[in-house]
Amino acid sequence: MSDCLFCKIVAGDIPAEKLYEDDNVIAFSDINAQAPLHALVIPKKHIATINDLQADDAELIGRMYLAAKQIAADAGYAEQGYRTVMNCGESAGQTVFHIHLHVLAGRDLAWPPG
Ligand code: 5GP
Ligand code: ZN
Repeated sequence: MSDCLFCKIVAGDIPAEKLYEDDNVIAFSDINAQAPLHALVIPKKHIATINDLQADDAELIGRMYLAAKQIAADAGYAEQGYRTVMNCGESAGQTVFHIHLHVLAGRDLAWPPG
């Protein structure tokens, strides 16, 4: 998707602080971090929202969570805990329409979310 911000990060056209990469997934620091660790885990393949997921994306979603687990562990937050969030659609606060898993850690996180 030529006009997608996160596809441009995948392509290297927009710089990002990369935290993880494998064949299918990359993760980078959120530009507007909401916690000491705020990573975004994304598939290299463009998928706009959770609503666009297909059955054969199931493994990809699992790999995104494995990346989140590794990023949290590498940053030292495995035991303390961390939050993973994927917003779907405007009312949920999705602003970039390429799915991304937020990984937040390093402060107490309120529940329920706003
Ligand atoms: P959403 O609101 O869609 O769930 O999350 C989008 C996230 O992308 C936001 O937390 C926002 O700060 C982050 N973001 C937006 N533009 C950029 C960018 O150019 N680079 C990086 N690293 N993060 C971005
Ligand atoms: Zn994209």
